[in-house]
Amino acid sequence: MSVQPSHEQGPRSLGLLSVVAPVYNEEATIDQFYARVCGALDGLRFELVLVDDGSNDGSAAALDRLAEADPRVRIVYLSRNFGHQTALTAGLDHACGDAVVMLDADLQDPPELIPRMLDHWGAGCDVVYAVREQREGESRFKLATARWFYTLFDKLAQVELDHNSGDFRLLDRRALSALLSMRERNRFLRGMTVWVGYTQAAVPYRRDPRYAGETKYTIPKMLRFSLDAISSFSHRPLQLATLLGFLISTLAFVAIPVVIVLRILGSYLPGFGAITIIMLLLGGIQLISIGIIGEYVGRIYDEVKGRPLYLVRARRNIPEAQGSPQPLPAASTHGQDER
Ligand code: UDP
Ligand code: MG
Repeated sequence: MSVQPSHEQGPRSLGLLSVVAPVYNEEATIDQFYARVCGALDGLRFELVLVDDGSNDGSAAALDRLAEADPRVRIVYLSRNFGHQTALTAGLDHACGDAVVMLDADLQDPPELIPRMLDHWGAGCDVVYAVREQREGESRFKLATARWFYTLFDKLAQVELDHNSGDFRLLDRRALSALLSMRERNRFLRGMTVWVGYTQAAVPYRRDPRYAGETKYTIPKMLRFSLDAISSFSHRPLQLATLLGFLISTLAFVAIPVVIVLRILGSYLPGFGAITIIMLLLGGIQLISIGIIGEYVGRIYDEVKGRPLYLVRARRNIPEAQGSPQPLPAASTHGQDER
């Protein structure tokens, strides 16, 4: 997608940039991450909002040290591990900038790309997403599963997502407000940032290997994440269940006259095997369909419970007013500030 200047606004000037990153057991990377962000944004007015997603290594202490030394570093400590997408949302909730960049804390997303993203923002783009031209240090398995997922997502979902883009994105304040007004529980943020629309632009980059540590996305987490992504952007799987139902019933209706005619003609139908196969097939399809419906019903149940998206254990370097509930439905998502 190319950069199209916004026709609705004059030239943009940056008062404050927010850089948001979720942190889960990244003690070996945090200092380097902070240094790289400061180096890349030298001369810009920025805040670094880091969300401790219930880490159980020394990450929280390392974050404490950073916040102590630099008031631009703001920390939100969640009460437990809520997962990548929710932690990122917590960070976005606490960001005050005119523009916000979200990126991973493991240095797979190079902070040095941010000034180029800002150029696009200055030219009027509301959502600037980074597109991976190369992915270093990722396993073949990860690359293959990502490819399958995006192919499936393309076929099923109603938003167009660049196959090589992740959550490394810059959002203008109005795109961010739109995103934050969407308080759904099963969050697929990269899809949601496309859904909000406005002017979007892509910036190519090379995705580096992790600086230290290991991926936090285990296979079950990846599977859940892809199910969340598809179910929150598509009803197609449900429609597929209906379609299969119709197809199989049609087959049955075709079979009825055939059986009657054969009976009248006195033909012996040995059909035991056929009946068994059909029963198994139908049973399987029915169970799969119930399973698909179950995935959606489960998510509806999660939504109606209306629980907060996350709870905050503590905040550092975050003004009192900002830590208090916002006028958005986001209000319920904030816990009490203990510090
Ligand atoms: N992360 C998080 N909570 C989690 C899992 C991951 O905050 O439950 C953070 C993690 O610290 C990193 C980012 O999300 O900054 C991306 O995670 P990871 O690098 O493990 O994912 P991958 O790059 O392998 O897809
Ligand atoms: Mg990573």
